[in-house]
Amino acid sequence: MSQAREELPFDVLFVGGGPANLAGAIRLMQLCKEKGLEIEVGLIEKGDSIGNHSLSGAILDPIALKELLPDYLDRGCPIEQSECRDNFYFLTPHWEFPIPFTPKYMHNEECSIISLSKFTRWLGEIAEEMGVNVFPGFAGTEVLYGDDDSKRIVGVATGDKGIDKNGEKKSVYEPGVDLTANVTVFGEGSRGSLLGEVDKTMGIFSKTMPQIFETAIKEVIEIPESNPFLASETTVVHTFGYPKGLDTKGGGFLYKMSDNRISVGLVLGLDYEDPLLEPYEIFMKYKRHPLIAKIIDGGKVLQQGAKTLSIGGYYTMPKLAVDGGLFVGDSASMLNSQRLKGIHTAMKSGMCAAETIIMAFEKNDFSRETLAAYEAGIEKSWINQEGYQARNFTQALSQKGVSKFIHVGAQYFTQGRGIKDPMVIKEDCATLKKLKGKTDSEALNIQKQEYDGELFVDKLTGVFLSGTQHEEDQPCHLIVHDQEICVNQCFKEYRNPCTRFCPAQVYEIVEEEPGGRHLLINPANCLHCKTCEIKDPYKNITWTCPEGGGGPKYAIV
Ligand code: SF4
Repeated sequence: MSQAREELPFDVLFVGGGPANLAGAIRLMQLCKEKGLEIEVGLIEKGDSIGNHSLSGAILDPIALKELLPDYLDRGCPIEQSECRDNFYFLTPHWEFPIPFTPKYMHNEECSIISLSKFTRWLGEIAEEMGVNVFPGFAGTEVLYGDDDSKRIVGVATGDKGIDKNGEKKSVYEPGVDLTANVTVFGEGSRGSLLGEVDKTMGIFSKTMPQIFETAIKEVIEIPESNPFLASETTVVHTFGYPKGLDTKGGGFLYKMSDNRISVGLVLGLDYEDPLLEPYEIFMKYKRHPLIAKIIDGGKVLQQGAKTLSIGGYYTMPKLAVDGGLFVGDSASMLNSQRLKGIHTAMKSGMCAAETIIMAFEKNDFSRETLAAYEAGIEKSWINQEGYQARNFTQALSQKGVSKFIHVGAQYFTQGRGIKDPMVIKEDCATLKKLKGKTDSEALNIQKQEYDGELFVDKLTGVFLSGTQHEEDQPCHLIVHDQEICVNQCFKEYRNPCTRFCPAQVYEIVEEEPGGRHLLINPANCLHCKTCEIKDPYKNITWTCPEGGGGPKYAIV
């Protein structure tokens, strides 16, 4: 095999195999067929098959799917439950209180429950049948720019494979490939690494309204066939309140899936303040609440996973088009946090991108000037109508105490404007409070849940159940810029919150004699959720893409 990097040219390159890019690639092929255009389209995905890195709450509003593939049911779209019958509760430690009034945006009558991994796999098959060159197991690691000074994007480079821990080539070394294209569409999902690179070069994100996120942990649980929940009408349970309390954003959910499986999860705003908070432990507490415990009684966890959601919405959307590049889906903050949904908006954004790309080919012009039609397309679409109504919603939920409800209520009656418009938000890495005045024993007195290995599993069992695998002998993909900060400053000020907010036990502080300590990183456990890069209070961690094909293998969640 040649040791030199090769160039693989396409007309259009999609980076990331989630719903935004898959819908975009399918729409592009449809339009090419209608207009008799021949366009070579490539799509790369870092997971070792499409769907393996897709994990979601997975209530699908089919509005975009109906536009894209009106015969989706005849084509065998994998739907777990075709009807969503919601119950919405406020939880205290021992009780649940049904909410008699659910705001209109929380209604899910037209929606279905899906497994996002199965759904994206299905979209991937359709894209391939239509002629898209799909390359799973290829991680984009670098944005390629034109030779001129214009900062025009001309593609992405994939990472080399077969490099050892010390950066030396192994016998199985395979150089990465330079994938070039007239238009590159970035749909990397929440906190895209390449998008971060583009921002450094071109400043696409707002300097005043930072990107903000929630972290989510989710499981698929098999429950006994005799469990009364399976025979009940309810297919969706949403909760707020216990166990995270009202001052922290987020809530819990439970969806009935096919067979005797249910999906249960918890999302938590990453603007939380307590450095001792451990999202994984909160999720375990959630499962022990009487309402949830009754439903999952006798069950066994089949799969577990974690991801972050980009929830800033309208005001945090980046510039969507640059010379040679378009940004779609979650990485471009398209998720509607008010509706707790982002699959439909992601798909629609990919479809709008495809329509602009066809126009660019017809004009043979791939400059920002032409590609900006995509921004106009989003502006005119229902993505914008939904997003504009929700433009201050997540900021309102970040407020403390009763003020949260006043803001949410005011926004409800003013089509999203509320009391302040726009409401300002803090970056998630800036919200932790220092552990001033706490003694060691107070700081470290964290109550751990008990695990039974079946229905309550510890983090490492969870990693096993996510199917996560990485080549062990490769450079660490988690860059901790200054480990002195970890063992000295962060230990004193926050007691190393990375050891708690990471859902996969990747970071550990190992005590050494006499009185020293060092940071141990277990990169092979990484679930690619990006929580560490987002929440680290010193911005001391950078998540980079490991060798292509590594990471989780979500099959049923
Ligand atoms: Fe998530 Fe970072 Fe932990 Fe990986 S190391 S699982 S990206 S928090």
